[in-house]
Amino acid sequence: MSTGTAAIPSSSKGAKQLRACLLCSLIQHPLEFRKHGCPNCEELMQMKNSADRVTQCTTTSFDGLIAVIDPEKSWVAKWQRTSKYVRGLYAIRVRGRVPEDVEHELENRGIRYRPRDQTTGDID
Ligand SMILES: [Zn+2]
Repeated sequence: MSTGTAAIPSSSKGAKQLRACLLCSLIQHPLEFRKHGCPNCEELMQMKNSADRVTQCTTTSFDGLIAVIDPEKSWVAKWQRTSKYVRGLYAIRVRGRVPEDVEHELENRGIRYRPRDQTTGDID
């Protein structure tokens, strides 16, 4: 049942440096993204060990924080092996788009990419 837990950043240290994943809006410290990638979408984003990819695939431009303790199924489940987001801290709104190669990869899998900068629901 456990699908893993993201490293939850402590708000006390350098919250401004935190970055949100453009695909699933998980918030982590950039070093976590670089060390472990995004626990939800590393398969597509491939940020591990690449500061450049972390810069491309995450953003500091996000609004609102929600701690997700019991993540619901989401469209992320369409490409994930697991059916849920990991537990962690998520942005309510994220500005920006994933890199084109990620968008193409989603297309290849028959998934329509939805930028996370809209308030509309992301549930089919
Ligand atoms: Zn992600």
